[in-house]
Amino acid sequence: MASKMYFLILLGISRIDGRTPPAGDNAVLTPSTASTTPARATVREVGLRDGLQSIATVVSTAHKIDWINAAYAAGQREIEVGSFVPARLLPQLADTAEVLAHAKTLPGLVASVLVPNYKGAERALEQGADLMVVPLSASHAHSLANLRKTPDEVVAEVAHIRALRDASGSRTLIEGGVGTAFGCTLQGEVAESEVLRLMQALLDAGADRVSLADTVGYADPASVARLFGKARALVGDRLACAHFHDTRGMGLANVYAAWQAGITRFDACLAGIGGCPHAPGASGNVTTEDLVFMLDRMGIATGIDVTALLALRQRVAGWLAGETLHGTLWQAGLPQNAAPAALHEAATA
Ligand SMILES: [Zn+2]
Repeated sequence: MASKMYFLILLGISRIDGRTPPAGDNAVLTPSTASTTPARATVREVGLRDGLQSIATVVSTAHKIDWINAAYAAGQREIEVGSFVPARLLPQLADTAEVLAHAKTLPGLVASVLVPNYKGAERALEQGADLMVVPLSASHAHSLANLRKTPDEVVAEVAHIRALRDASGSRTLIEGGVGTAFGCTLQGEVAESEVLRLMQALLDAGADRVSLADTVGYADPASVARLFGKARALVGDRLACAHFHDTRGMGLANVYAAWQAGITRFDACLAGIGGCPHAPGASGNVTTEDLVFMLDRMGIATGIDVTALLALRQRVAGWLAGETLHGTLWQAGLPQNAAPAALHEAATA
């Protein structure tokens, strides 16, 4: 066991000492640097896309721009601003081009969009998105129902998107987002081997990086540790992000398990908006403010001011009157005299 752990450390696969994570996407831990590597994580806001697409209220473009400005001022540097899908399918996201154009004016902000197909990718490239996420469902049944394509047809489309990107000279990154990675309501079980095969296939087809998503809230910390561990062993830092829904209350526990497996970027939705089409009233993604608070308490730097996030949450709640919001930090507030516990411990250790 000890030699296996040492091997994993050398590969930068896992912070198995329970204290020191990789510094970033390309960090490789070694035992000698492990104790001095600062702990950092990125929280990517996906509320404007994954959140808003699942609720009926249409937030105005002006409010979306307000949201992005405030999230940026709070320290968020990665925001998924919308999706390039036909407006008749998702009127909530019809203004994605406009919102993206604004996001691009903020220095250092990585503005991403979701693109479900080649046409969406063309628009993302035209509009100069920093990153496009191409979703793939590892569940064949879910893939056919939602994308009307098999997973392997999506892989083939990613190859075409990569060719288009390269021909255009664009620097837009391509992220293959492997959804239903932990099972789905239509198919039930999704084999880990199939998830890993498709993840590798996306990279082989030209995706710059990949992410794994628990689209319907089937994951638990043990399955996260297992699948993310295997995925990291297979593709290393090209597995760049974890996307968890909190449908059954395991979102933050799953984040922690993924962190332990070496993941340092997490998707989250302010106020936990989003929901699940198969579970009315269920929460959406992991709640941004709760996640940032958890990471703070663990001594993991996010660069995000949680107090500013709570203030933003209140404003967004005003724009979403009548919608069910989620999360817990806003109810209890920040602890009095709240020094991040882990930092305090490190300072006195
Ligand atoms: Zn999602």
